[in-house]
Amino acid sequence: MRPSVDSSSEASLDELGPDELARYSRHLGLAEVGAVGQTRLKRASVLIVGAGGLGSPAALYLAAAGVGRLGIVDFDTVDVTNLQRQLLHDTASVGHRKTTSARQRLESINPLVRVETIDEELTSTNALEIIREYDVVIDGTDNFRTRYLTNDACVILGRPNVYGSVLRFEGQASVFAAADGPCYRCLFPEPPPPGLVPSCADAGVLGVLPGLVGTIQATEAVKLILGIGDTLVGRLLLVDALQMRFRTIQLRRDPACPACGTRELRALIDYDEFCGTRTPARNAVGQPSGGPRAGTQAVNPPRARAVHDITPRELAERLQRGDALEVIDVREPYEWRIARIEGARLIPLARVAGASTELARDRDIVLYCHHGQRSRTAGHILIAQGFERVWNLAGGIARWSAEVDSSVPMY
Ligand SMILES: [Zn+2]
Repeated sequence: MRPSVDSSSEASLDELGPDELARYSRHLGLAEVGAVGQTRLKRASVLIVGAGGLGSPAALYLAAAGVGRLGIVDFDTVDVTNLQRQLLHDTASVGHRKTTSARQRLESINPLVRVETIDEELTSTNALEIIREYDVVIDGTDNFRTRYLTNDACVILGRPNVYGSVLRFEGQASVFAAADGPCYRCLFPEPPPPGLVPSCADAGVLGVLPGLVGTIQATEAVKLILGIGDTLVGRLLLVDALQMRFRTIQLRRDPACPACGTRELRALIDYDEFCGTRTPARNAVGQPSGGPRAGTQAVNPPRARAVHDITPRELAERLQRGDALEVIDVREPYEWRIARIEGARLIPLARVAGASTELARDRDIVLYCHHGQRSRTAGHILIAQGFERVWNLAGGIARWSAEVDSSVPMY
């Protein structure tokens, strides 16, 4: 899309009423948006999956920007714990449907926008039908089941899927399922085993963080509609709010991806079975509320099978031989103070994604934690970033203490 003063601009100006010309004047003055772009926004539609921490800022900004039709899918009710970050809802809306407060808030921001609320859970049965009606999808889900479902539906329908996730102080964003880019499955071919990845309910999340990431999602949606700039297609943005560092890693489409590569996945599947979650997950953007339902975490562990196990005895032998190994402790600093393996380096799990540039790719990396779960997650993160020589110390430092070095305190 190109700037303003041409015939299409004149025609676009005719489509905008005086109230719109005034309301969107700060857009109209931008050469990259102008009347043509504003008209594109007006004609566009965006579906926001989840009216929670990520969906809130995304919806607020897209409504304010004048996206003509906004769909909100959510079947949840507002809980007081949501209010720390889900700004679509306020104290008076506690106990009411999220779609109700979302509609009220969005319509009060911009009555020119059509708000369509879908007060049900996105499922394999209704997802294609719902998503088909929109140009762009914003993934504000908090669970793997809905995340894979949204991804697959977007790939099947050819709709760009603007992805975001948050946990603790870290977030991620990307644009999946664009014509020339990878999809969520290319990055995370398999969901993590249920219970492995903590949720925001369990691990917490800084309230501002989904605001930051959801706003990035809104930005990407606007750019996709306008056709301007460089979007996050083919890139994963990693946000570390504590250090306030933003990094992007390149993503490639996986030719073996069943969704966007081989395209063998032509219909939606049973995502409970795929994710190993039998009980239906809640669907509330940004802030999940249970172990396996945690989709908004910054630490989606993919490729579960690619992290090799190493036993404490094997590690001890290799260290004794003087093998060039990098031993990384992914526990929290307080645990490091209690006990550690000599020669190891502390990089807590939440920092692993951002710390990968400090790690050597030409030697074996052995990760450990207390019992071996967090380190496996860390291994998945590194593998997703292209590391190939990643090992997980089976049983963690607890087993190390039991089998190799009893002078390391148990805790
Ligand atoms: Zn893919």
